[in-house]
Amino acid sequence: MKIRTLRAARPNWPRQLIRAAMATLLPQHIFLVKGSASRPAISLTFDDGPHPEYTPRLLDQLGEHQISATFFLIGREAELYPELVRRIVQEGHQLGNHTWHHAPPDQVSARALADEVHRTQQLLTDLTGQVPRVFRPPLGKLTPGKFACVWRLGLTTVLWSVDPKDYQVDSVAELRRRLLDHPCRSGDIVLMHDSRPLALEVIADLARMAEQARVEFVTISKLMNAGSD
Ligand SMILES: [Zn+2]
Repeated sequence: MKIRTLRAARPNWPRQLIRAAMATLLPQHIFLVKGSASRPAISLTFDDGPHPEYTPRLLDQLGEHQISATFFLIGREAELYPELVRRIVQEGHQLGNHTWHHAPPDQVSARALADEVHRTQQLLTDLTGQVPRVFRPPLGKLTPGKFACVWRLGLTTVLWSVDPKDYQVDSVAELRRRLLDHPCRSGDIVLMHDSRPLALEVIADLARMAEQARVEFVTISKLMNAGSD
Protein backbone atom coordinates (compact mmCIF):
# COMPACT_ATOMS: atom_id res chain seq x y z
CA MET A 1 0.00 0.00 0.00
CA LYS A 2 1.40 3.36 -0.95
CA ILE A 3 0.46 6.94 -0.88
CA ARG A 4 2.92 9.50 -2.04
CA THR A 5 4.87 11.71 0.32
CA LEU A 6 8.47 12.56 1.23
CA ARG A 7 11.31 10.70 2.85
CA ALA A 8 14.19 12.51 4.52
CA ALA A 9 16.10 14.20 1.70
CA ARG A 10 19.43 14.76 3.43
CA PRO A 11 20.30 11.79 5.63
CA ASN A 12 22.33 12.02 8.81
CA TRP A 13 23.92 8.57 8.47
CA PRO A 14 25.40 7.99 11.94
CA ARG A 15 22.20 8.98 13.66
CA GLN A 16 20.11 7.08 11.15
CA LEU A 17 22.18 3.94 11.64
CA ILE A 18 21.85 4.12 15.42
CA ARG A 19 18.16 4.75 15.02
CA ALA A 20 17.75 1.81 12.65
CA ALA A 21 19.67 -0.47 15.01
CA MET A 22 17.56 0.60 17.98
CA ALA A 23 14.36 0.13 15.99
CA THR A 24 15.48 -3.39 15.07
CA LEU A 25 16.64 -4.40 18.53
CA LEU A 26 13.99 -2.82 20.73
CA PRO A 27 10.31 -3.77 20.86
CA GLN A 28 7.83 -1.26 19.51
CA HIS A 29 6.35 -0.49 22.90
CA ILE A 30 9.76 0.91 23.90
CA PHE A 31 10.95 2.58 20.69
CA LEU A 32 8.87 3.17 17.58
CA VAL A 33 10.01 4.61 14.26
CA LYS A 34 7.55 2.83 11.99
CA GLY A 35 4.56 0.57 12.46
CA SER A 36 3.88 -2.80 10.90
CA ALA A 37 3.70 -2.78 7.11
CA SER A 38 1.21 -5.64 7.23
CA ARG A 39 -1.77 -3.41 7.88
CA PRO A 40 -2.88 -0.55 5.61
CA ALA A 41 -2.51 2.14 8.26
CA ILE A 42 -0.46 5.32 8.62
CA SER A 43 -0.06 7.76 11.52
CA LEU A 44 -0.02 11.52 11.11
CA THR A 45 1.78 13.20 13.99
CA PHE A 46 1.86 16.91 14.79
CA ASP A 47 4.52 18.43 17.00
CA ASP A 48 5.08 21.65 18.93
CA GLY A 49 1.48 22.69 19.57
CA PRO A 50 -1.00 23.58 20.67
CA HIS A 51 -1.02 26.80 18.66
CA PRO A 52 -3.91 29.23 19.16
CA GLU A 53 -4.53 29.77 15.44
CA TYR A 54 -3.24 26.73 13.58
CA THR A 55 -4.27 23.91 15.91
CA PRO A 56 -8.04 24.71 15.79
CA ARG A 57 -7.91 24.98 12.01
CA LEU A 58 -6.01 21.71 11.77
CA LEU A 59 -8.56 20.03 14.05
CA ASP A 60 -11.33 21.31 11.80
CA GLN A 61 -9.60 19.76 8.79
CA LEU A 62 -8.96 16.44 10.51
CA GLY A 63 -12.58 16.32 11.64
CA GLU A 64 -13.88 17.11 8.20
CA HIS A 65 -11.91 14.20 6.75
CA GLN A 66 -12.44 11.87 9.72
CA ILE A 67 -8.74 11.49 10.38
CA SER A 68 -7.36 10.47 13.78
CA ALA A 69 -3.89 11.81 14.55
CA THR A 70 -1.39 12.13 17.38
CA PHE A 71 -0.31 15.47 18.86
CA PHE A 72 3.04 15.73 20.65
CA LEU A 73 2.45 18.79 22.78
CA ILE A 74 4.89 21.15 24.43
CA GLY A 75 3.87 21.47 28.09
CA ARG A 76 4.46 25.23 28.20
CA GLU A 77 2.09 25.74 25.25
CA ALA A 78 -0.49 23.31 26.61
CA GLU A 79 -0.61 25.33 29.82
CA LEU A 80 -1.43 28.45 27.77
CA TYR A 81 -4.20 26.81 25.73
CA PRO A 82 -5.87 24.15 27.90
CA GLU A 83 -9.11 24.28 25.92
CA LEU A 84 -7.23 23.13 22.82
CA VAL A 85 -5.70 20.21 24.71
CA ARG A 86 -9.16 19.10 25.78
CA ARG A 87 -10.50 19.53 22.27
CA ILE A 88 -7.74 17.34 20.82
CA VAL A 89 -8.76 14.50 23.14
CA GLN A 90 -12.50 15.07 22.76
CA GLU A 91 -12.17 14.74 19.00
CA GLY A 92 -10.52 11.33 19.25
CA HIS A 93 -6.87 12.18 18.80
CA GLN A 94 -4.00 10.93 20.92
CA LEU A 95 -1.82 13.10 23.13
CA GLY A 96 1.94 12.75 23.31
CA ASN A 97 4.58 14.39 25.47
CA HIS A 98 7.12 16.70 23.75
CA THR A 99 8.76 18.09 26.95
CA TRP A 100 7.90 21.31 28.74
CA HIS A 101 10.25 23.81 27.07
CA HIS A 102 11.22 21.94 23.90
CA ALA A 103 14.87 21.89 24.93
CA PRO A 104 16.77 19.28 22.87
CA PRO A 105 17.42 16.32 25.20
CA ASP A 106 21.08 16.18 24.20
CA GLN A 107 21.51 19.68 25.64
CA VAL A 108 19.94 19.16 29.07
CA SER A 109 20.80 16.85 31.95
CA ALA A 110 18.94 13.58 32.46
CA ARG A 111 17.45 15.06 35.61
CA ALA A 112 16.25 18.15 33.76
CA LEU A 113 14.75 16.04 30.99
CA ALA A 114 12.93 13.85 33.51
CA ASP A 115 11.54 16.98 35.19
CA GLU A 116 10.39 18.37 31.82
CA VAL A 117 8.68 15.14 30.85
CA HIS A 118 7.11 14.62 34.27
CA ARG A 119 5.78 18.18 34.45
CA THR A 120 4.21 17.84 31.00
CA GLN A 121 2.71 14.45 31.91
CA GLN A 122 1.17 15.96 35.01
CA LEU A 123 -0.39 18.87 33.15
CA LEU A 124 -1.81 16.82 30.27
CA THR A 125 -3.23 14.27 32.69
CA ASP A 126 -4.81 16.97 34.86
CA LEU A 127 -6.35 18.65 31.82
CA THR A 128 -7.78 15.56 30.14
CA GLY A 129 -7.88 12.70 32.65
CA GLN A 130 -5.75 10.68 30.24
CA VAL A 131 -2.14 9.76 30.83
CA PRO A 132 0.01 10.20 27.71
CA ARG A 133 1.85 7.01 26.76
CA VAL A 134 4.09 8.31 24.01
CA PHE A 135 7.02 10.72 23.98
CA ARG A 136 8.85 12.43 21.15
CA PRO A 137 12.19 14.09 21.89
CA PRO A 138 12.55 17.60 20.45
CA LEU A 139 14.47 17.43 17.17
CA GLY A 140 14.38 13.64 17.52
CA LYS A 141 17.52 13.74 19.65
CA LEU A 142 17.89 11.33 22.54
CA THR A 143 21.01 9.80 24.07
CA PRO A 144 20.83 6.18 25.30
CA GLY A 145 20.88 7.21 28.97
CA LYS A 146 18.08 9.70 28.51
CA PHE A 147 16.17 7.24 26.39
CA ALA A 148 16.23 4.84 29.35
CA CYS A 149 15.14 7.67 31.61
CA VAL A 150 12.05 8.26 29.43
CA TRP A 151 11.24 4.56 29.42
CA ARG A 152 11.41 4.45 33.21
CA LEU A 153 8.76 7.16 33.20
CA GLY A 154 6.49 4.73 31.37
CA LEU A 155 6.63 6.33 27.94
CA THR A 156 7.24 4.86 24.48
CA THR A 157 9.66 6.98 22.48
CA VAL A 158 8.20 7.64 19.04
CA LEU A 159 10.18 9.09 16.13
CA TRP A 160 9.03 9.06 12.50
CA SER A 161 9.67 7.39 9.16
CA VAL A 162 8.51 10.22 6.89
CA ASP A 163 9.47 13.88 7.14
CA PRO A 164 8.06 16.23 4.50
CA LYS A 165 9.89 19.07 6.29
CA ASP A 166 6.91 21.38 6.67
CA TYR A 167 9.18 23.49 8.89
CA GLN A 168 11.46 24.30 5.95
CA VAL A 169 9.16 24.87 3.00
CA ASP A 170 7.78 28.32 2.23
CA SER A 171 4.52 27.50 0.51
CA VAL A 172 1.62 25.09 0.48
CA ALA A 173 2.43 24.35 -3.15
CA GLU A 174 5.94 23.22 -2.22
CA LEU A 175 4.69 21.03 0.63
CA ARG A 176 2.04 19.56 -1.64
CA ARG A 177 4.67 18.85 -4.28
CA ARG A 178 6.80 17.02 -1.71
CA LEU A 179 3.82 14.97 -0.65
CA LEU A 180 3.02 14.04 -4.23
CA ASP A 181 6.57 13.24 -5.31
CA HIS A 182 7.54 10.56 -2.82
CA PRO A 183 5.99 7.33 -1.62
CA CYS A 184 4.60 6.67 1.84
CA ARG A 185 3.94 3.07 2.87
CA SER A 186 1.74 1.25 5.34
CA GLY A 187 3.12 1.60 8.85
CA ASP A 188 4.69 4.97 8.18
CA ILE A 189 4.71 7.68 10.83
CA VAL A 190 4.57 11.15 9.27
CA LEU A 191 6.10 14.14 11.04
CA MET A 192 4.43 17.54 10.70
CA HIS A 193 3.86 20.56 12.93
CA ASP A 194 0.73 22.35 14.10
CA SER A 195 2.87 25.26 15.29
CA ARG A 196 3.16 26.22 11.61
CA PRO A 197 0.55 27.13 9.00
CA LEU A 198 1.21 24.68 6.18
CA ALA A 199 0.28 21.21 7.44
CA LEU A 200 -3.40 22.03 7.84
CA GLU A 201 -3.52 23.06 4.18
CA VAL A 202 -2.58 19.60 2.90
CA ILE A 203 -4.92 17.45 4.98
CA ALA A 204 -7.45 17.23 2.16
CA ASP A 205 -4.65 16.10 -0.21
CA LEU A 206 -3.52 13.44 2.26
CA ALA A 207 -7.07 12.23 2.75
CA ARG A 208 -7.53 11.89 -1.00
CA MET A 209 -4.24 10.03 -1.45
CA ALA A 210 -5.01 7.69 1.43
CA GLU A 211 -8.42 6.92 0.02
CA GLN A 212 -6.94 6.08 -3.36
CA ALA A 213 -4.31 3.85 -1.74
CA ARG A 214 -6.88 2.34 0.68
CA VAL A 215 -4.89 3.12 3.77
CA GLU A 216 -6.41 4.66 6.88
CA PHE A 217 -4.98 7.17 9.30
CA VAL A 218 -4.75 5.93 12.88
CA THR A 219 -3.29 7.17 16.15
CA ILE A 220 0.12 5.93 17.25
CA SER A 221 -1.47 3.59 19.80
CA LYS A 222 -3.59 1.98 17.13
CA LEU A 223 -0.62 1.72 14.81
CA MET A 224 1.30 -0.11 17.54
CA ASN A 225 -1.62 -2.41 18.27
CA ALA A 226 -2.05 -3.15 14.56
CA GLY A 227 1.45 -4.62 14.58
CA SER A 228 0.89 -6.84 17.60
CA ASP A 229 -2.35 -8.61 16.77
ZN1 LIG B 1 9.41 19.76 18.32
